[in-house]
Amino acid sequence: MQTREKSVPGYERVVCGTDETAGYHGIVVIHSTALGPAVGGTRFWSYKTEDDAVTDALRLARGMTYKNALAGLPAGGGKSIVMRDSKATDREQLFRTHGRLVNSFAGKYITAEDVGTSPSDMEYILKESSYVAGLQGRSGDPSPHTARGVFRAMQAAAKYKWGSDDLSGKTVSIQGCGHVGYFLAGELARVGAKLIVTDVDQAKVKRVVDDHKATAVPPEEIYSVAADVFAPCALGGVLNDQTIPQLKAMLVVGAANNQLLESRHGDLLEQHGILYAPDYAANAGGVINGCCIEMLGWDVPRTLAKTDAIYDTLLTIFALAERAKIPTYQAADRLAEELWKGVATK
Ligand code: NAD
Repeated sequence: MQTREKSVPGYERVVCGTDETAGYHGIVVIHSTALGPAVGGTRFWSYKTEDDAVTDALRLARGMTYKNALAGLPAGGGKSIVMRDSKATDREQLFRTHGRLVNSFAGKYITAEDVGTSPSDMEYILKESSYVAGLQGRSGDPSPHTARGVFRAMQAAAKYKWGSDDLSGKTVSIQGCGHVGYFLAGELARVGAKLIVTDVDQAKVKRVVDDHKATAVPPEEIYSVAADVFAPCALGGVLNDQTIPQLKAMLVVGAANNQLLESRHGDLLEQHGILYAPDYAANAGGVINGCCIEMLGWDVPRTLAKTDAIYDTLLTIFALAERAKIPTYQAADRLAEELWKGVATK
């Protein structure tokens, strides 16, 4: 494999690798190891150019530093990309090649699943490197843990907004009935919340309707339904100029990454009197579970307690936002920066 190092200010390492025989073209970015090895998944996605892929990896790796810091994990932030190319057909060869690139960082970067990759791809990486998490039979599917964390974040937001974290009788609209959306619906049904759900995949909607007595609406109606809480659990960028004015919910708490189309939409939510639980704080349950079980060797009860502590993290964010008169997304960034930059500059 041929590797090329790129120098990017503010990042520890950016390495691109190519292997013609395997049809492999990949990137590993380490944003920060100030708090521990850089932890972040491998994305398998198609990009027009290598520069586009690097830009995406830089943004994602930096995001992982913030997420892991705020979650209180001894982990920094990194991310990798395997560029999806129609010429490469042998998945094992592709991900084993990626595993060799991951291994060349000697543990400074630990990978896991991300968009486009599955536990079986991680097994291929494992054949070349031990620096991989999210394996079957170890910490397992992160989704129920992510859902649990989102549920706890929702309770914290309710406590802050309404003075009680009891969600019984509250109506929650869930966008996306996939892995996280399904388990989130279960957590909410268990405490007596009413559910309105949507998905572009009708089979996924049916499962939540049947299992958790939810009411289904078409995808375009989910923003304007009469709900107390809106939970984006599908795509990024769903909080924008078109959708925010439609929201009747007073809280937005969900699992999707990068929910704000632009930062200013965090300000717009505030102007509409809507409390926003910053996405990377609310959706950290999966990475907490993976890190605590696989890196730290914690048992399940201790790990669950750490995921449940997302409740306290959210209350800290809301309190700082109020004290400093800043939107909640800025408060989350400020807290995360204190945690990792404080160590990085020592
Ligand atoms: P998933 O792919 O299982 O579910 C997403 C669902 O959204 C799918 O069922 C899809 O059909 C649906 N969807 C897509 N476009 C839609 C639209 N326009 N309207 C309504 N539904 C639509 O993914 P997931 O693992 O459940 O993750 C959900 C979100 O949470 C993603 O943004 C993911 O990046 C983020 N996230 C997931 C985890 C995790 O542990 N799985 C952790 C952190 C963040």
